[in-house]
Amino acid sequence: MGPPGAGKGTHAKIMSERYGVVHLATGDLLRANVKAGNELGRQAKAIMEKGELVPDVLVIQMIRERLAEKDAKAGFILDGFPRTVAQAEALKKMLQDLQLKLDAVLDFKVSEKVVLDRLSGRRVCPECNANYHIRNIPPQKEGICDQCGTRLIQRKDDKPETVLERLKVYEAKTAPLIDFYKKSGLLRTLNGDLDVEPLQAELGQLS
Ligand code: AMP
Repeated sequence: MGPPGAGKGTHAKIMSERYGVVHLATGDLLRANVKAGNELGRQAKAIMEKGELVPDVLVIQMIRERLAEKDAKAGFILDGFPRTVAQAEALKKMLQDLQLKLDAVLDFKVSEKVVLDRLSGRRVCPECNANYHIRNIPPQKEGICDQCGTRLIQRKDDKPETVLERLKVYEAKTAPLIDFYKKSGLLRTLNGDLDVEPLQAELGQLS
């Protein structure tokens, strides 16, 4: 949990490698569908570019199929899902059906100033989804992905006007989930303003 730019993707990726579990980022999955030009991608593209949420029914179906794949059996880290109460309810049901349970819900609290700085400087690899920041996490060779050599891009929805919309959407639709998970006793709150290493140290103390 956390607004755009809170560090969810960066830390989910590090932890998925550390614990040997899959990193399931709905944003990455949706962008792959957009790139593939399939029906889901066609429906999602314009919504994503405006910084709004893709309809629950589409995202829930996509994650249901993904969670049923073999590699999710050993565990997974969800990143960017659930983002609405309806998605959280659907997730609960899906996990019951699969006889799985959540171990924790991590909530990254972050200030707006840090979000705006992180997103304006964020660069991503359109091929392997690696994330960089022009100052905080620069690639070894400027503008090029360290992992696969692809030219980095700025996401269209990281432009300032879309970022403000995404923050509004987060407050209205996603922030209410914090209470939902607080009640379940699974919520762990983290200081998302911290840089990658100190926040990893905080995460390490949770386990
Ligand atoms: P992200 O990469 O997590 O910042 O997601 C990028 C965009 O994908 C969001 O602004 C939404 O348009 C869409 N998206 C990602 N995850 C979800 C979700 N769980 N529900 C609805 N839309 C989503």
